Amino acid sequence: MVTERLAGASAIFTPLLSRAHPYVVAMAPPHLLAPTPAGLFCAAGDFYIDPLRPVPRALITHAHSDHARRGHGDVLATRETLDIMALRYGEDFCARRQVAAYGQSQRIGDVDVSFHPAGHVLGSAQVRVADERQRIVVSGDYKRASDPTCAAFEPVACDVFITEATFGLPVFRHPDASLEADKLIASCALFPDRAHLVGAYALGKAQRMMVLIRQQGWERPIYIHGALEKITEYYAREGNDFGEIRKVSAAERSKLAGEIVLCTPASLQDIWSRKFPDPVAAHASGWMRVRARARQRGVELPLVVSDHADWNDLCATILETQCSQVWITHGEADALVHWAGCIGLDARPLHLIGYGDEEDAVEAQT
Ligand SMILES: [Zn+2]
Ligand SMILES: [Zn+2]
Repeated sequence: MVTERLAGASAIFTPLLSRAHPYVVAMAPPHLLAPTPAGLFCAAGDFYIDPLRPVPRALITHAHSDHARRGHGDVLATRETLDIMALRYGEDFCARRQVAAYGQSQRIGDVDVSFHPAGHVLGSAQVRVADERQRIVVSGDYKRASDPTCAAFEPVACDVFITEATFGLPVFRHPDASLEADKLIASCALFPDRAHLVGAYALGKAQRMMVLIRQQGWERPIYIHGALEKITEYYAREGNDFGEIRKVSAAERSKLAGEIVLCTPASLQDIWSRKFPDPVAAHASGWMRVRARARQRGVELPLVVSDHADWNDLCATILETQCSQVWITHGEADALVHWAGCIGLDARPLHLIGYGDEEDAVEAQT
């Protein structure tokens, strides 16, 4: 009896609700995406976004290895992301590839899907998933600071914004990256007898550092560890001008006093680095803001250069999307959830396991 009455009631109220004030519609619980152990799943389109394990259909935000894994069936991503995945994993990294151009919408199952620039690394994208009731944007990793090596982040209006929060604490306010490049160049002038080894992720950070030091006036050749070669060549083919780049040969290492050598963060600690003349270990990372981390890794010259949004940019971006709900995939969720709650947004941490360790993962495969 009771069930019948309730069913009747909902039949009466459903048409009313669907014409309700936009606020009521906007606050509806997200139905287009759900967190699962394999990652964010869209049942209406039968796909996962940045899945953590092999799935039949994957949408990939960018080519860092914690988001872009091999072994999926269909993969939809930007051309650059697909190219970089093929460079790293081999051409057979998935069964079928499909290119997503920025800003172009396509229907998958019962939803519209489009990719938009995330400003994180070359080819990085936010993914918008929408039907007639709800618009959800999955940010992937993103930053708002300028980076000439990739398309700039574009805010996309949505009801639910699913954001990363790698640096989601008020203590993280990234300085102007060009000042960090100045620091490196000043150190080279101060210590002309020492080689400067700069640890930087092979995908994105290394190439951004090249552009930054060129912009700040460094005209000498930039030396690179072999692990950075493939991706750097790809960036150059895609139109980035890095000036003269030289791969470091074993014989040359002892002669590179006063030079800048880019390498993966792990190479700073391995035997490779010891052949350089009195090397200065530098590391370009948002984590260099934490002095204990720099010390722990034996970094003499910490350079706070991040490819992720800092606290201010996370908050500003959430506001710009005009969302009413925020989901946080990974990183420092608690402070951001609190902040969002204080300004009346419905916020929720997803605690997805498997993202955010791109440094170790990248190094394992290069
Ligand atoms: Zn990333
Ligand atoms: Zn990531």
